[in-house]
Amino acid sequence: MNTKETKLSVVIHTEEEFNWDSGFFASNNRVSHGKELVQFCEQLLAIGANIVFAMDYAFVSSDEGQNVIRHFKKNHTDNIEFAAHLHPWVNPPFANEDQIQERDSYPGNLPEDIEKTKLSALTDLIELHTGYRPTTYLAGRYGIGKNSHKILKELGYKVDLSITPFTDYGYQEGPDFSKYNNDEVMIEGIRCIPHSTGFISYLPFFTDYLNKTPGNLDRLNNSFLGKVLLRLLGVSKVRLSPEGFNAKEMGLLTESLIRIGVGHLIFSFHSSTVKAGITPYTQDEVSLKTFEQDAFNYLNNVKNLRHKTLSSAKQ
Ligand SMILES: [Zn+2]
Repeated sequence: MNTKETKLSVVIHTEEEFNWDSGFFASNNRVSHGKELVQFCEQLLAIGANIVFAMDYAFVSSDEGQNVIRHFKKNHTDNIEFAAHLHPWVNPPFANEDQIQERDSYPGNLPEDIEKTKLSALTDLIELHTGYRPTTYLAGRYGIGKNSHKILKELGYKVDLSITPFTDYGYQEGPDFSKYNNDEVMIEGIRCIPHSTGFISYLPFFTDYLNKTPGNLDRLNNSFLGKVLLRLLGVSKVRLSPEGFNAKEMGLLTESLIRIGVGHLIFSFHSSTVKAGITPYTQDEVSLKTFEQDAFNYLNNVKNLRHKTLSSAKQ
């Protein structure tokens, strides 16, 4: 296994704080975790991480968000990248109502002209505050649609991070990524690097079998014996994120993805998770400590990978 060839980027969904279970409102645009975000990211940078801040409109237009941008612009240039993250409900042009329907929370479900106008407004705002036009994109709720890559190309984007392998968000009107594994794909001239997600089990060769081909797990799940086997082998689905996954689980996924030749890993979390009491992952100081420790332990364990931002990771 040639770990020197594998790249890793830390991608932060950098956004406002909102209650993830109570709907999507234009007025939910509060950002109060700027100081905690700077402190935590400074520790990740000290370990050797390169960080991509995928920022949404509410974050970039907030005072705290602008302080975060100023801090990293001033103190780090080579190991930081500012990218775009479109949450349509807090991004102009706004709908008439404060609340939008779940279907419209996925940018890729919007009419093409509205998706483009919103992303264009976000791109301009990011350029205004960072000094350059972002070239990396992450759709809010991973919600890319049939027009998204054409729009990205037209606006000068190069990389999209929205694909979530082996996952179908169709039950909540989101995109279906169940046909994707963690390999990079080009879609309409945009380089798509999946948000690392896959399977772990007690047996490395079986883990690799599941991670290679979409559908392998489903085939086993369709039979009684297959289900028993999955259980006996301790199969579970893991995202490369300290939000709900520990350093050991992330390490096992990483080893498998490296063995099967995945070239670029994405380690991700949401910006407001770094402050206790906001997201479901860190509701108190104890769970915040666990989250931080899993992030530090994992990144320390993968120090030998090539840590990259996306704009610097040309292939
Ligand atoms: Zn988001």
